[in-house]
Amino acid sequence: MIIVMKHGAADTEVDAVVSKIREAGLREHVSRGAELTIIGAIGDEGKLSPAHFEMMPGVDRATRVVKQYKIVSRDTHPQGSIINIRGIPLGGEQIQVIAGPCSIETQEQMDIAADAVAAAGCSMMRGGAFKPRTSPYAFQGLGVEGLEIFQQAARSHNLPIVTELMDVRMLDTFIEHDVDVIQIGARNMQNFDLLKEVGRVNKPVILKRGLSATISEWLMSAEYIAAGGNHNIIFCERGIRTFETAYRNVLDITAIPVLKRETHLPVIVDPSHAGGKAWMVPALAQAAVAAGADGLLIEMHPNPCEAWCDADQALSPQELKQLMVTLSAIATAVGRKL
Ligand code: PEP
Ligand code: MN
Repeated sequence: MIIVMKHGAADTEVDAVVSKIREAGLREHVSRGAELTIIGAIGDEGKLSPAHFEMMPGVDRATRVVKQYKIVSRDTHPQGSIINIRGIPLGGEQIQVIAGPCSIETQEQMDIAADAVAAAGCSMMRGGAFKPRTSPYAFQGLGVEGLEIFQQAARSHNLPIVTELMDVRMLDTFIEHDVDVIQIGARNMQNFDLLKEVGRVNKPVILKRGLSATISEWLMSAEYIAAGGNHNIIFCERGIRTFETAYRNVLDITAIPVLKRETHLPVIVDPSHAGGKAWMVPALAQAAVAAGADGLLIEMHPNPCEAWCDADQALSPQELKQLMVTLSAIATAVGRKL
């Protein structure tokens, strides 16, 4: 930790800071400049809190130098991690596209969707059985029945399934229903109890970025999962809230290279919830692949006009197929495969 003293801080104030560092079992390095005195605390800074120093007389500010996230950090694991999802590698040379409807509606809808996902060449299928809706009166998802419908549809094409877990009480049900990837939605990115529980199971987790979460908060949320022993974490950028209202969210493309530098874990992008309109999805998906995303999470519905949830942003089966062709060319251009 670095403690910067105020201009003209007294020697007694510097001594008090040094004593506090030593009390915690660390050593100090005092650097007296012409203008300022800066004190470095050497040792396990986890034992110190910047706030405790900032309350002391003569202290201007205190900053940690070691990152708060360790397991997910690239510092501790320089090689990129590849997550194995029922034999499908996510995070390597191959870019994986996960597609499917926003929500599971009927067996017929999911059967047609699974056919379309497989026909387009996507490797995994999405679909929500438990939906985080803004209005309590909107369709909330089919619940457990939806998981059964989903499994039946996806298994016919051997597609691993990705679905959102909102309530920790449903975790056992997800495991019993053999959900392949647990999605933690944007609204639950900082539901720490939920994160701790998915940290205790051995299932891959897609951790979506919170609506207004910083990169650092997002990494810390992933660390919550990793700290429980589950290191199979996939970050999913899905757009953030800004002042702009012309689209649902702002896709933060910059987050892709920044995260790839900060963490060894795979990073995917959801262009559907970012743009909020189907016509924006191809451009955003292409940009994501060009910027280094390891995969995409795309909403597709057999008949978008009839979708029970997020109809505006769903691609049709034909549009998904077309997009996969374009993405393949971009993947090749950036040294990846689709
Ligand atoms: C979803 O993927 O269906 C969803 C609700 O996404 P988000 O949590 O990003 O809003
Ligand atoms: Mn949706």
